Formats: sequence, C-alpha cells, structure tokens
Amino acid sequence: MLTCKEFLSELSEFLDESTDREVREKLEKHVAECPNCWVICDTTKKTISVYKGMKECSIPSDVHSRLMAAMEKRLAAGRAGR
Ligand SMILES: [Zn+2]
Repeated sequence: MLTCKEFLSELSEFLDESTDREVREKLEKHVAECPNCWVICDTTKKTISVYKGMKECSIPSDVHSRLMAAMEKRLAAGRAGR
C-alpha cells in the first residue's frame, strides 16, 4: 500500500501519460482509496491544464517543485486538522 507521501512524490508520473502502466495502476489504486490525494490529483490536473493553456510546453521544474511543496504542506495541514 502506497503512502500519501509516496503518492505525491510520484504524482507527476501519474499525470504523465507515458508512465508505465504498472506504476499508474498502483497510483490509481491509491487515488481511489484516498479522498485526500484524489482532491490533490484533481486540482493538479486542472492546474496543469491551465499552464498548458498558457504555454504550449511542460511546466518549468521550479514551478513544479513549488507546486509539490505547496501540496505537501496542504496535505500535512489537513492531517493535523483531524
Ligand atoms: Zn493519499
């Protein structure tokens, strides 16, 4: 079973259509069982499509890492609130 942290570290793989089927299936399973990560995944997908709409290229790595950091923070905050 994947942890949320592991899921987040592989989220970019999950959103990348060229990623291994095996990896994607593992990540899909986590999203199906974890509403927290589902929301993050959904939000990220939308964010990425906005970025892609602005520029016809992939997200710059610094933007991507900032996005990941922000999401991890959010995830940690959500856990602390329970
Ligand atoms: Zn999760």
